Amino acid sequence: MDKKALFDLIDRNEKTLKEMATAIWQFAEGPFKETASSKLQKEYLAGQGFRIREVPGVETAFIAEYGEGKPVLGILGEYDALPGMSQKVSAARESLDDQSYGHGCGHNLLGTSGVGAVAALKEIMAAEGLPGTIRYYGCPAEEILAGKVVMAKEKVFDDADACISWHPASMNVVWGCSFLAMNSMKFRFKGIPAHAAAAPQAGRSALDAVELMNVGANYLREHVSEKARIHYVITNGGMAPNIVPEDAEVWYYVRAPKRAEVREISERLFKIAEGAALMTETTMKHELVAGCYDVVSNDTLGKLMHANMVEAGPPKYTEEDFEFGKKLSALSTREDKKKVMSTYFAPDHVLDKILCDEIIEVNDKGAVLAGSVDSGDVSYIAPFAQVTAATWPVGTAAHTWVATAASGSGIGLNAMIFAAKTMAGTVYDLLKDHALVAAAQDEFKKSLNGFKYISPYEE
Ligand SMILES: [Zn+2]
Repeated sequence: MDKKALFDLIDRNEKTLKEMATAIWQFAEGPFKETASSKLQKEYLAGQGFRIREVPGVETAFIAEYGEGKPVLGILGEYDALPGMSQKVSAARESLDDQSYGHGCGHNLLGTSGVGAVAALKEIMAAEGLPGTIRYYGCPAEEILAGKVVMAKEKVFDDADACISWHPASMNVVWGCSFLAMNSMKFRFKGIPAHAAAAPQAGRSALDAVELMNVGANYLREHVSEKARIHYVITNGGMAPNIVPEDAEVWYYVRAPKRAEVREISERLFKIAEGAALMTETTMKHELVAGCYDVVSNDTLGKLMHANMVEAGPPKYTEEDFEFGKKLSALSTREDKKKVMSTYFAPDHVLDKILCDEIIEVNDKGAVLAGSVDSGDVSYIAPFAQVTAATWPVGTAAHTWVATAASGSGIGLNAMIFAAKTMAGTVYDLLKDHALVAAAQDEFKKSLNGFKYISPYEE
């Protein structure tokens, strides 16, 4: 059988996959709350003959597996939505009345595409008697950068020989870049409450500690590398001005190009928090909410994914998709779009398009995008590569209501089918040619240079 037969299987399953992605778009469930979304995918794959494994302690994570022996090849999927991103499939801002979450990052497409890829691969493997194991990793809570990190702690990626994924965006391209490693941490201070006017001398303010910590952190900024980022919000600043706050909390993100630097800055931040507690005679506790690595992109897999994008051909948008795309595109200026696209190293001619109906090549090797992704942890455990597919009109920023609208429309759904073909084709090549798997692993070993992954929760 050839690649075309594999792509045909995905085309034949198009209706089911589009219905699944639409249902998940409607569920719009937040991080670790993706009960209906994960259930829908899990039950579908169980019905297709996949073995389902749960992940201890992570209710909305699962692994669907088919086949036996080596190589073990994984496709990573996601299905969580974002708060405040509820939106109809409309070119005007119209949120759905009954929900605030929405798929402004297109994860309804992200996961479903992987489901479509493994379902088609299973049929081909059975027909051709191909040895090897394929896995769909149902990964929750990407938006809080926790799902894959928690799964990695459970060692579910340890025996994978290679993993691939994709992300919704407005261009069809391999992501050869890295992202910032990150720690998300909460600092809680406890003081002594008192009447703020009648007995201030009896009180010790937890809010004072938070404010002094923030002053310290703002001085720290001068002494970290240029690419590092420190941002915070005060999540609890006390109850009322006339009570000395007993409890206060500040939530920090620390980001940097490499995990080691995140760890170093975090340790300095702990000292600042301890200092603030000492100054105010309060006590401090800190919690690591989530942490993730930067991304090591595997070129061997990246090149293979590019070849499969070309073989699959660009997304098949309809007239209606272009019409809707035009309306969404008209909402932002060329300058705004350029800002978004330059982040992704898009060539200028892409800006002249409503929808990216071609496969693009860019040189983003060595670049570090100023966001974070939890697939970075997987990239330190197994060879990993990912692509983006044009699920949104050119220049659409992620985490916007426009992205939610496009992710629920034909634009997103048709690009999802293209992504499914790209990933299925890549895994098919790896199943047929084990030398490719070996080459990806050689490169992986060289990139890591002896480094062994330690979970951010166990550092
Ligand atoms: Zn996302």
